[in-house]
Amino acid sequence: MTRAQWLGWTGEGALLIAHGDGRLEEVKPDATLLGLGGASWPRLGSSAAWVDLLASRHIAVTPFAPSNCGFNVEWSGILRTRHAGAPLKHAAFTFAGRTVRGEAVVTDYGIEGGAIYALSPLLRRSLEDHDKTTLMVDLSPEHDVAYLANRIARQDKGSSLSNLLRKALGLSPAAISLLREGDRDLPHDPEALARLIKAVPVPLTGIQPLTRAISSAGGIDWAELDARFMLKKLPGVFAAGEMLDWEAPTGGYLLQAVFATGWAAAKGVEALLRFTPP
Ligand SMILES: Cc1cc2nc3c(=O)[nH]c(=O)nc-3n(C[C@H](O)[C@H](O)[C@H](O)COP(=O)(O)OP(=O)(O)OC[C@H]3O[C@@H](n4cnc5c(N)ncnc54)[C@H](O)[C@@H]3O)c2cc1C
Repeated sequence: MTRAQWLGWTGEGALLIAHGDGRLEEVKPDATLLGLGGASWPRLGSSAAWVDLLASRHIAVTPFAPSNCGFNVEWSGILRTRHAGAPLKHAAFTFAGRTVRGEAVVTDYGIEGGAIYALSPLLRRSLEDHDKTTLMVDLSPEHDVAYLANRIARQDKGSSLSNLLRKALGLSPAAISLLREGDRDLPHDPEALARLIKAVPVPLTGIQPLTRAISSAGGIDWAELDARFMLKKLPGVFAAGEMLDWEAPTGGYLLQAVFATGWAAAKGVEALLRFTPP
């Protein structure tokens, strides 16, 4: 049934379906596989309205939280006005001992992108406990401090610092602005400057909302499911996909987990129907 919405169960245990034309229908299937999604980008359909329906049947659901999302930074001016949308390429991003190499994008609200998404579970947990948390950015992960200091020291002393960073190290205008962010005076000592390039602190002040997150953490508690992905308290009702309490990075891992749990739950349905007498 397309253009139909599941509204919950009737008193007799049938599924109550609302059709697009307003018609209500009751369906009593042999088994039900719920694949209703998580809570991110609700305008695409996954509104998590099912949470109340399952809660009314005493199914524990871990509250949803944004995952694979952007983070807020109170940029002081130039980064927001001149560099919003600019990528920070070939960088490395470190938080809580985990380093991810890749790319991020400066936005008007802060920072997002593949490398940030990969760190999002750790960053989110830190921001749950603190008002601020600091992400470290290495703008030149290919090179160590000694190499960078040497390149900086060998440059023409007459050229501006920005030119020096652009020519000697190939840093982009956005990367150079990140170094100067918050009116930071750049060190004249080549080694001190090299150390800053290898570890630029970026204070994060918040997380973007679920409505803007690529995926959601949280969902049906695993303890509610048996090995066949059937809800223990609702025999015959299975669940799969982002409804379940897991999170994964982008790059196909989310879809892979959705397909894998969908396949496993379908196998569970098959097993149930095969061994249940008609
Ligand atoms: C912008 C964006 C980019 C993404 N990029 C990637 C990526 O690069 N790689 C990757 O692996 N993953 C990516 N994902 C995540 C991936 O799309 C999701 O993890 C996946 O689609 C979740 O699958 P699902 O079947 O669990 O839920 P969904 O795809 O959300 O499907 C659930 C469906 O159930 C419907 N529904 C909900 N409630 C009801 C109801 N009561 N009655 C009837 N229907 C209902 C919804 O309308 C929806 O169609 C991205 C997601 C977004 C939003």
